[in-house]
Amino acid sequence: MRILVFNAGSSSLKFGIFENDKQLFKGSFDRFRDGGCDYAFHDTDSEKGHAPHADLAAAIAAVPGVLRRRGLAGLQAVGHRIAHGGQGFAAPALLDDAAIAAIEALTPLAPLHNPANLVAVRLARGLWPDLPQVAVFDTAFHLTNPGRATTYAVPTSWRQVGLRRFGFHGTSHKYVAHRAAEEIGQPLADLRIISLHLGNGASACAIQRGISIDSSMGLTPLEGLVMGTRSGDVDPGAFGFLHRQLGLTIPQIENTLYNDSGLKALTGSADMRDVEDRAAVGNADAQAAINLYAYRARKYVGAYAAAMGGADALVFTGGIGENSASMRRRICDGLGFMGLELDHDLNAGINLKGRAAPQIQSYGSRVRVIVTETAEQLMIAREVAQTLARRPVKPIHIPVAVSGRHVHLSAQAVEALFGPGYHLTQAAPLRQPGNWVAAERIAIEGPKGRLEHVAILGPLRPRSQIEVSRTDSFALGIDAPVRDSGQLDGTPRVRLIGPAGQLDTDGLIVAARHIHTNPQDAARMGLEDADLVDVEVLGRDGRGLTFARCLVRVSPAAFTEMHIDTDEANAAGISGTAEGELLRDVEARPTG
Ligand code: ADP
Repeated sequence: MRILVFNAGSSSLKFGIFENDKQLFKGSFDRFRDGGCDYAFHDTDSEKGHAPHADLAAAIAAVPGVLRRRGLAGLQAVGHRIAHGGQGFAAPALLDDAAIAAIEALTPLAPLHNPANLVAVRLARGLWPDLPQVAVFDTAFHLTNPGRATTYAVPTSWRQVGLRRFGFHGTSHKYVAHRAAEEIGQPLADLRIISLHLGNGASACAIQRGISIDSSMGLTPLEGLVMGTRSGDVDPGAFGFLHRQLGLTIPQIENTLYNDSGLKALTGSADMRDVEDRAAVGNADAQAAINLYAYRARKYVGAYAAAMGGADALVFTGGIGENSASMRRRICDGLGFMGLELDHDLNAGINLKGRAAPQIQSYGSRVRVIVTETAEQLMIAREVAQTLARRPVKPIHIPVAVSGRHVHLSAQAVEALFGPGYHLTQAAPLRQPGNWVAAERIAIEGPKGRLEHVAILGPLRPRSQIEVSRTDSFALGIDAPVRDSGQLDGTPRVRLIGPAGQLDTDGLIVAARHIHTNPQDAARMGLEDADLVDVEVLGRDGRGLTFARCLVRVSPAAFTEMHIDTDEANAAGISGTAEGELLRDVEARPTG
């Protein structure tokens, strides 16, 4: 599929043509001003110079001519980078009138960016009225961040109008995490990755098992790292202080934090190359700015390692992350405590051509260090292709069963809890063929409390798995992660107590909602293994709920049934069993 990708800002337009994951063309119109702008085009050869277009609209209008001259015909879709998707856009969206109105309504959250993005959307719809246009949101990747990462501790009325942390650069963080996993040769779902996107804007992201769990930008792209012209973290008390001391208004302070802070405020230049050059000839301000920049980034790396219980890889990207070996070294210096050691020769000699992602850690470093070019436009093209390839599902009804808390035990666990040579008694079969509930019960205990009479499900498994609800995890006093069955690495430990002994084991999870089905039913419903699908459940009390992104698990003899836990059932007003209806299109689950 041949896709045109737009990344439109108020002062520049970047665009590219992609086909089957390959970039055929890249172009930019930059620094719009009265007399025109700078342009640069690149496909088999490069061309740059001055163009007469003085604003974004004029630049977009010029794009069809550029493509025609370069012989780039046959477009099939247009993708747009959209800065802010709010809480509603967790995935790319087809740009129809309703989606455009919804993006426009988010303007208060991104007053500079969303309007510029929408100028491009509207003009592109006029220029290519027959092509599907898809929005890919900078915020969407971070909508998986848990409440503890997104919530500011402020009054309810403030939070009700939408004050929360979002995070940006999502497309870049997602791309480099995938690229790093590919380079390491392990599924993304097995890795804890910290990515540092260090460009003119800069942000850090904690990606646990492929899912963003925290990022350094907040409500706006101001929070977090030191940037070219943006301050990053500042005590919000600064607003009152500056108002009293200097008589500044809120718009004045805000404008300065966006446009005249960061490296620019500290050194006079927003460009890291200048700052490094000045530092090298002894400029003390430039040296201090470099130290501050690296220190802030290193602090976030440490924080995100703590947030994920460790890190398997640190990834550098963005103009500074890709090009400044000395900044990478400064950030990594002092991270030996978490098992990260840089190889200084590898760090100094990287080559990123052809989307390479070289590893630059020293031999024996527990944490890999990887550098790679960010490829936001490529990632947008991929997401556009995936969005347009979505398959509609049939609105079929499936039974929904509620799983109470239970454990699956290993043979060793049975012996530890019930005594050597003990065999569990099969009390009753379950609906999934070959599965049964045992007559025996155990207790599980955490630092805060104990849950009695917990069911044991057979058959035995290689590793014990303890499935509780979120409410149970509070009763236990242990923060259990949401996981697919069998994904137990790095899960918290809990104490199991049986009649003959006790056992401390990892494997405590809140089971991710899922649908068991067999190949015949899957085909009937239009589903495939590992699809993610939304299911609407109507509760008996008339409330009902739509469960988003239920994982489809196809196995030959499975009985078709969706499993949710007791918290989910209570929220939907279900007791025992209910019926759910498949909704909307399926999403193929991202793989490593
Ligand atoms: P944007 O966020 O606008 O896409 P980039 O990712 O291109 O920006 O990053 C721009 C930053 O990268 C600038 O601060 C620039 O100085 C810095 N940079 C580019 N090349 C180098 C280099 N060789 N050494 C240090 N910094 C560099």
